[in-house]
Amino acid sequence: MSCAWVVVGALASSILVTDAARAGDPVADRGLLHTQEGRQLAERAIDQVAKLVADDGPRLVPSWRAPGGQASEAVPVYLVEGKPGAIVTPAAVPSGCRCVFVSPSVLKKWIQRNSAGPGRVSLDDGNFLVFILMHEMGHLKKGTPGAAFHDGEMSQLNIEPSRAKAAEEDADDFAVAVLKLRSKQTKANDVSLAANWVVLELTKLNWNMQAFRTLDEFGAFAVGKPSVFFDNGYTHPNLAWRILRVNDRIQQTKETRYLLEAYEQARDRGANLQPLYQRK
Ligand SMILES: [Zn+2]
Repeated sequence: MSCAWVVVGALASSILVTDAARAGDPVADRGLLHTQEGRQLAERAIDQVAKLVADDGPRLVPSWRAPGGQASEAVPVYLVEGKPGAIVTPAAVPSGCRCVFVSPSVLKKWIQRNSAGPGRVSLDDGNFLVFILMHEMGHLKKGTPGAAFHDGEMSQLNIEPSRAKAAEEDADDFAVAVLKLRSKQTKANDVSLAANWVVLELTKLNWNMQAFRTLDEFGAFAVGKPSVFFDNGYTHPNLAWRILRVNDRIQQTKETRYLLEAYEQARDRGANLQPLYQRK
């Protein structure tokens, strides 16, 4: 074996080898790679989450800031990369680890996809990541993992769909409770501002999803077109419905309730396919 090959290989993958070689590395153990992409974004989001959650949840720490292990109560956040298409959610609490995986490349694509198109507003990946991390914190508090990873592939948890759905709603409810509490603090300080940025981001996402359903998929509402109104069947199912539900829980207005109910009714129409017009 040539020395040059060894040197080049070692330089190219030094971070991966160093981290992967560490005993009990939850990322390498699941066949995934560490990435340095998105560190600043994640660090800022982790700081915002700490401000918002304070003592109501576990403390998240960037795994790269505490090499060799963290204080026992701290939960490491790992930035991970898998084979293209192998990871389908921007973040998850993996089964069997009290930690959080964030995939910056999946997050970036997700934000781009949900910002693109007529009538859309640009989403902010940092503010959205704060919401995602608080959702993951909800999973950690309840001890419910969000996904399983094996040999670099992500898969659904092998649990009953209704339990998985309840775990997702519980995790959302934790984030909602924090956002409601902090955003409605009358004293304007950086905590209430941070909460309001996230609430605004969710409103923007709601808007963009509504634009998709009404502009791109005009007509889908009448029949509850399954590709528009149904789960994609993955671990964070029915994101559109969940975002509508989260917005309604936070804002509790007639409008947010209407949007949620209209979506649910369209979904029911899709589940119970009937002709739109009865033949006489
Ligand atoms: Zn989840």
